[in-house]
Amino acid sequence: MGKRAHSGWSEDPRELLRAGEDFDLGDMKRDATPGWRRGKRAAKAFGDERGDLLSELQERLFAQGRTGGERSLLVVVQGLDTAGKGGVARHVMSKVDPQGVALHSFGAPTPEEQKHHYLWRIKKALPRPGLIGVFDRSHYEDVLVARVDELVSPDVWEKRYDEINAFEAGLVDSGTTVLKFGLMVSHDEQGLRLMKRLDRPDKLWKYSKNDVPTRRKWDAYQEAYTDVFQRTSTEAAPWYVIPADHKWYARLAITEILTQTLIEMDPEWPTVRWDPAAQRRQLAETLSTKALRASLKETDRQVKKAAKDDRRVREEAAEAGRVGATTDPIAKAEVLAREAEAVASTAEAMLDLQLIRKQKAELLEERGDG
Ligand code: AMP
Ligand code: MG
Repeated sequence: MGKRAHSGWSEDPRELLRAGEDFDLGDMKRDATPGWRRGKRAAKAFGDERGDLLSELQERLFAQGRTGGERSLLVVVQGLDTAGKGGVARHVMSKVDPQGVALHSFGAPTPEEQKHHYLWRIKKALPRPGLIGVFDRSHYEDVLVARVDELVSPDVWEKRYDEINAFEAGLVDSGTTVLKFGLMVSHDEQGLRLMKRLDRPDKLWKYSKNDVPTRRKWDAYQEAYTDVFQRTSTEAAPWYVIPADHKWYARLAITEILTQTLIEMDPEWPTVRWDPAAQRRQLAETLSTKALRASLKETDRQVKKAAKDDRRVREEAAEAGRVGATTDPIAKAEVLAREAEAVASTAEAMLDLQLIRKQKAELLEERGDG
């Protein structure tokens, strides 16, 4: 038992759920919960915990965008009716600052959109630097519904897979990380969810008379989705195919993959060109002695908290070092490197706070109040 066990996942969902060239949708159990064995209640608790981290990472990305950073994150959510696309979008968005996310839902193209290339409306909706864009349906409808309903001829949709791959590779090159989630429900579960919509006055508005005709084309859609996952899950922009009969699992898996992705993007708080210590001295001149004392007290509390964090991270690193023989050497080296980095960064945070504490104590002393 080491890092991984207490992180809640028995295996990394990014590895378990990522689609490759030989991805087989037919094989997939839609009510499975790959990598998670602790059930629904633990999933909720862990998801909430992840939410705090996700929220900080999103804020860092946003802060970078406000200070000249170029990066953004695009989250594409696809799935058949009732798969839970809207729920995932709402759930994920509830964990971060609303000004940092932009949701776009793509329905049947308007007459205006029809006059343009199918990527035209997509390009207009891409997240600006610092933002997380969420697409509820996307350009993939142009190789899904367009193919199944024969809205265009096969030679037209056939070319789109490569075109989409090139488009997404370009996005990644220009600083947008692309994550794609396919929410896959079972045929029975979809039927039950549609029935529930019909049975509940508060859900009727979600039902469309088109839902049953679309449902009758189930097999054609599974085939079209298989092609999407096999042909457009690239190194630059991978697909994660999520069993979605358990809504709590789909949300947990997406939250986790999103969090891991942002951890890897590693957005740093922007630094400034001026000297905070000099500004601190100037600001202190405008503070009453009482306020300055309160400010010193506040820093004392932060120092204590930082010391606690520092202890915890050191303990975790020591624990990770003991995991030992069972883990493969590369994975172990990665874990150790990550731990070392965490130890260094909490130590640095503590040192910074101690210096701030010292400056404030000296400022107070200068007033003859030491
Ligand atoms: P909903 O997500 O339930 O509001 O439904 C949106 C509808 O718009 C679905 O039936 C999609 O198949 C349809 N749709 C989305 N994108 C396209 C597209 N590019 N071409 C045709 N229909 C689309
Ligand atoms: Mg619908």
